Amino acid sequence: MSYLVLARKWRPQTFSDLIGQEHVSRTLQNAIDSGRVAHAFLFTGARGVGKTSSARILAKALNCEQGLSTEPCNTCPSCTEITDGNSVDVFEIDGASNTGVDDIRELRDNVKYLPSRSRYKIFIIDEVHMLTNNAFNALLKTLEEPPAHVKFIFATTEPHKVPITILSRCQRFDFKRIPLQKIVDRLRFIVDREQVSISDDSLAVVARKGDGSMRDSLSTLDQVLAFCGQTVADEDVAGLLGVVDRRLLLEASGAVFAKDSRAALEIVKRVDSFGYNMRQFCQELIDHFRNITILRAVADAADILDLSEGEVAELKDQASAVPPADLQRHLSILLKAEGEMAHSTFPRLVLEMALLKMAALSPIIPVNELLERLKALEGRGSAPTVASPAPTWEKSPPRPEAAPRQTDRGAPPPPPRQKPATGDAPASPDNAPPPATGDPWAGFVAAVRGKKPFLASFLEYGRPLVVSAELLEIGYPPGSFQLSRLQDADALAELKGLAKLFFRREPVIRFKSLRDEGSEAPPTLLEKKSLEETIRTQHLKEKALGHPLVNAALEVFGGVVDGVAKIEGKP
Ligand SMILES: [Zn+2]
Repeated sequence: MSYLVLARKWRPQTFSDLIGQEHVSRTLQNAIDSGRVAHAFLFTGARGVGKTSSARILAKALNCEQGLSTEPCNTCPSCTEITDGNSVDVFEIDGASNTGVDDIRELRDNVKYLPSRSRYKIFIIDEVHMLTNNAFNALLKTLEEPPAHVKFIFATTEPHKVPITILSRCQRFDFKRIPLQKIVDRLRFIVDREQVSISDDSLAVVARKGDGSMRDSLSTLDQVLAFCGQTVADEDVAGLLGVVDRRLLLEASGAVFAKDSRAALEIVKRVDSFGYNMRQFCQELIDHFRNITILRAVADAADILDLSEGEVAELKDQASAVPPADLQRHLSILLKAEGEMAHSTFPRLVLEMALLKMAALSPIIPVNELLERLKALEGRGSAPTVASPAPTWEKSPPRPEAAPRQTDRGAPPPPPRQKPATGDAPASPDNAPPPATGDPWAGFVAAVRGKKPFLASFLEYGRPLVVSAELLEIGYPPGSFQLSRLQDADALAELKGLAKLFFRREPVIRFKSLRDEGSEAPPTLLEKKSLEETIRTQHLKEKALGHPLVNAALEVFGGVVDGVAKIEGKP
């Protein structure tokens, strides 16, 4: 006996066998029950979802010798003949090969005669959209005035190609893609009766390959059984059907959620060693993350997703702790990577980098939550503290005008301890006031800056060895640029004039070449300022860290103080 393919062997014979088209079965059964059966039906839908099977079940139900019933008996001669395809009153016509007007004329002639044995003459025309226009016109005449003993059942995958005049004379039923879980259940029913050992995971792989079509799913199962025999291993199914093992996808998302970069890279390595196409894996990963995202976002998402119950449970379990916003970010990283892979010579590298990025993704705090925390913070701080600007701190990344600015500038503001020597308030750090009654050198340089800024900038590099009204001795490294400029006759004359103004006497000005720089000589003004700046920042930071509001903020946001910036006009 020849092998009967599963799709034929397990073709549904009753309405209750029909999987995933309950809306069609119920309506047809109600029509039969109430005796209001249309004379023409149009069954539309994708291939392999049960259109032709339904047409035969309907034909049997209409012609069953047990009487018109909602389920055919499947035992009477009429039923068995229809099942075997040799009923004298049921005509199955393939629209694809009988497209001509002559075929339809023949049909019209046939329609005139009463059924030879049964209640109705039933014409099942498959792929009806393939008929020619003339054939449709010939058919239309019959449909307009159908004899009471005739029923038409048309099936098509492309209803938009059927003329509106035909459509309007038919009762239309749209068959749906069959949900994955229903296919899996039906496959389970069949393999158990076929005594095949196969996991639900593999059945889901087979069903997914069928893409909503029961016939395609069963053909795929035939292919698997032909290869594996009665005992089917998961690896064989994945290998045979060329699909990525779902374990790998689950492990990949697991590694990302666990922030395990190493595991993520291992998976890419395995994908590569299996010889999978990297981009295809990335696409499957996108689909996988889409499923997780939808599961997290929608309470009852099982209907939206093409997943088996077991897969849904696994994904829910894995993603339960991942914030939905993070999932969206993972998805966008993957989508970007997939796009890049299309043009990249290194698709593996692109995928690796994407997974690393995903594994390193830092959590984001939703704005709402942030606002809530801020409100809580406001409640905690006392009114005066909030009103007076506290020392600000910068979370990383710092704004460009933050702390670094002051150290980058040539002339930072004077140390806060020193009082301005003159009453003029500084407009900007660049023309700082002459400070320091306590430090005559700093005072002198500040005074020089007021008149001759370039001379002051040379002096800032010098070490004040002796500073008095009688003698100014300034040390420079040998051959320094500043020294050579200051020794210029004009510059020296200007400097002398300024010294006389500042010290009220005319000190002797002497430059000294310092070989062993910085061992005992006093620091230059620049060095001093930089040191003071460091101390000042440190001091500010300590002050900020001691501030209750700052501490409360750190506690709420879980951050660290990255830098402290001084607010203008505040001590
Ligand atoms: Zn019967």
